[in-house]
Parts: sequence; structure tokens; C-alpha cells
Amino acid sequence: MNAPLRHADKNFAPLIRQQNLIDGRWVDADSSATFDVTDPATGEVIATVPNSGAAETRRAIDAAHAAFPAYAAMPLGERVALMRKLHQVILDNLEPLAAMMTAEQGKPLAEAQAEVASSAAYVLWFAEEARRADGAVIPSPVAGRKLMTTRHPVGVVAAITPWNFPSSMLARKLGPALAAGCTVVIKPASATPLSALVWGHLAEQCGFPPGVVNIVTGSARAIGAEITSNPKVRKITFTGSTEIGKQLLAEASGTVKRMSMELGGNAPFMVFDDADIEAAIDGALIAKFRNAGQTCICTNRLFIQSGIYDRFVEAFSARVAALKVAPGNEDGAEQGPLVDAQALTKIEAMVADALAKGGTLVTGGAAHERGGLFFQPTVIADATPDMRVTTEEIFGPLAPIYRFETEDDVIAAANDTEFGLACYAYTKDMARMFRLQDKMEYGLIGINEVLIVMPEIPFGGLKESGLGKEGSWQGIDDYLETKYTCIGGL
Ligand code: ADP
Repeated sequence: MNAPLRHADKNFAPLIRQQNLIDGRWVDADSSATFDVTDPATGEVIATVPNSGAAETRRAIDAAHAAFPAYAAMPLGERVALMRKLHQVILDNLEPLAAMMTAEQGKPLAEAQAEVASSAAYVLWFAEEARRADGAVIPSPVAGRKLMTTRHPVGVVAAITPWNFPSSMLARKLGPALAAGCTVVIKPASATPLSALVWGHLAEQCGFPPGVVNIVTGSARAIGAEITSNPKVRKITFTGSTEIGKQLLAEASGTVKRMSMELGGNAPFMVFDDADIEAAIDGALIAKFRNAGQTCICTNRLFIQSGIYDRFVEAFSARVAALKVAPGNEDGAEQGPLVDAQALTKIEAMVADALAKGGTLVTGGAAHERGGLFFQPTVIADATPDMRVTTEEIFGPLAPIYRFETEDDVIAAANDTEFGLACYAYTKDMARMFRLQDKMEYGLIGINEVLIVMPEIPFGGLKESGLGKEGSWQGIDDYLETKYTCIGGL
């Protein structure tokens, strides 16, 4: 039963789906159990979705497996046309899709709109990349043979997605999978299932055949265990914490699946004495406080060179203190609520730890007077390596600032982490820019720029931040197998 909508008056109400999508049918969990989806800004229940487990997941995998041969054989031109329709239908629904995301995730509406636009852009990008997924004719070293490679969809793909970018993280997986000719089973984060379920509705509307896109909500452990052990799943693509990523890698080893992992980060943000300080402050505000600090490429550690340290701390903190903290759908909101109570408790504990170890609280530091899940945008200066914020992913609106003296010192400190996703630097010294490019152990390097992610670039981490790339021409590779054929006797 699709539960009655509590928000029938909202512009996104017609887009809310409260059931699993399996084999082209919208269905409840076998037990009829559900869980609530709430608005983190108000605590209001927005919807209820199925609390499913292994059995529903197995049926979704079976459906994807059954749909695969026909979908893989669909002429490329038809598949590309479906993808182009999907791109258009996302743009046509941009406003309500963004409002729905803000309601369940909490981010400011402008950020949600940008995310939905980015989802559409990924779909279009991969539709085009599918047309270029060519093979090769390899010059043969011996006579009488033709050596060739051809590329083929990997098969059933399982996508496990996070709550912080509930639409675009899915677009980066669903886009290349559908473009390559794979069928998909999606397990969205339980905090934000609506932004994923709606893709099922949109895909149906565009005419993707039943069973090509399947979505199951519910117990991460039960759904995850079925996905990792089921031999029909040929690839898992995951965005989430390093801890769960490692667990999935271990679990999936039994059936040797292809694995793509977008995991945690601990991004350094380095500002050198020669930098344009105003530009650096603008960048730091975005790189730290976008999505209330809840992105895997968010600045975790701000390293400021000693010559400009005091000036930077003062001017940056004044801007941070002025950020408008409000529900995401309120005019001018710059920082919404945190995702849940656990996130708030974690930030409080990190602030206490940093202050106990000698940090100086410059602004913020406590729950916001709005109450609920709102936290004050916070700056702690005089940060030191022994603090939790140095080694752990903060995932919240807390900016620790470290002082450094030399380029060598800051590069060593910035690289001193098991993570390697994003890093940022502000400097006007061109030679230094190239030294940073060589020496920073990060998959994404932003120099004098923080908005560095777009479909054209290969997003992915080094070290324990992940495996594989999403976006660019590389982003479709993980969804394609290469076969080599040798024809002899010619
Ligand atoms: P986050 O900190 O972003 O919530 P998680 O790694 O906990 O990161 O969650 C990311 C996604 O992984 C979510 O969809 C979550 O439900 C899912 N997940 C969590 N635990 C498991 C698990 N044991 N198996 C499979 N998926 C899981």
C-alpha cells in the first residue's frame, strides 16, 4: 500500500514514491514494515518507505538479471535516446526535485537545485560517452591474424548511495550503468530514499523497460549482504564511509565482483602567504560549509601560513559568524541542519576534544539557538595534530585552523593521512602550483578554486579514499568489460 501523503500541498508531492521498484512494479516490503523519512529541519515525517531485507533484494537482482540480455542488446541509438529523455525529464522537474531533496536532506534549496542540475548533466554526459565506448584493432606482430578488442556491459550493477548527495551520487552510477547497457539495483541511504526512488518513476516515464532500474529501501546490512554474496551481481558501486567500503570489499571477495568505491576524505586547505586572501576566504567558506560541511570533499583541515595567519583567522571567522543558519527552504539560507542527532553529538564531541587539547574557539562551538539539528558554524584556531579533527572526517560545520611555516612542512602535514580524496591550495606562485600537483597525494587538487567537480573530470580518491573514477571518459570504463578476440588462419 502506498501510504497517504502527509505533504499533499508540497510541489514535490506528485514525485514522492513510497514503495520499492522491482521488475517494473511498485511494491511494499514482504513484511509490510516501513520506516519514516523525516525533514531534518523540523523533525516532521515526510513519507514512509519499505523496510526491506534480503528477499526483496534477491528479487530485484533476479529482475535486473532477467532484464539484462534484452537491455544490453538494445540498439545504442535507442539507449542514448532514452538517456536523453531522462536528462530532459530531470530538468523539467528541477524545482520539485530540489524541494524534495531539501525536505529530506536539509541542504539549502540553491544547493539542491545545483545538485539536480548536476544529476541531469551526468546523465547527458554518459549518454554521449556510450557512443564513444569503442574497441580497437591491434596491429598483429605475426602474419595471418586479426587482433581486436570489443567492449560489453558488465551485467547487473548494484549501487549503494549516501545521504549527503542523494541525487548526484546516484546519477554518477546510474548514468554510466544505463548508458553502458547494464541493469541496476539501487539501495539508497535510509535518511534520503525519496531522491533515489524518484529516479525509478522518471525512468519509467521515459520508457526504460521493466527490470532495468530496481530500487530497494531498508536494512543496509541485510540488503548489503545479499548484494555482496549474490553471484548475479557483477559489479558494486558504493559511495559512503571508508569503514563500510572496506566491509563491502571483504564481503564481495567471495564472488569476485568489480568494485568501485568513493569513500571518506580528510581534505587539507592550504593558504600560502602570497595568496589572494579574499579569494581564499571565499573558497574556504564554500569548501568548508557547503551542505553544512557534510561532503566527502569538504575541507577538514585549514592550514594557513604564519605571515597571514592572524589576518586570515580574523577575516574568515567574521564571515563564518555571519552565515545564515536556517531551514534549507528559507530565503537566503546558507547552512541547514545536520542530518541526524548522531551527527550533532559527534561535532559537539570534536569541539570539546579540540578545546581540551589547546584549541582556541573563535566563533560558534555549540548547538544553534534554533534548536533541533542546527549547529553554529564554528572556527577553532591553534589546532594541533593530536586533535580528533586532524585524523577523523569531521562531516560538519567545524573549521579547525593550523599554522604552518614552510611549503615542505605543510605538504608533509597535509599528506599525513590515510585518506586521499580532495585537497585545496591558494597561492599565486606558479612554480609552487606544479610542485603541489606532483607532491599532493590526492585524487582531486583544487588550486585557487574549490568548485572543481563536473561530469567532465575523473572524480576519485587515492589511498583509502577509494577505487575507480566517476565522471570523465574514465567513468564508464568500470561498467564495461573488454573482450579480446584473435582471428587466425587469415
Ligand atoms: P554515511 O556516513 O555517509 O552514512 P555509510 O557508509 O554509513 O556512510 O552509508 C553509506 C551507504 O551505505 C548508505 O546507503 C548506507 O545505508 C549503506 N550501508 C551502511 N552499512 C551498510 C552495510 N553493512 N552494507 C551495505 N550498505 C551499507
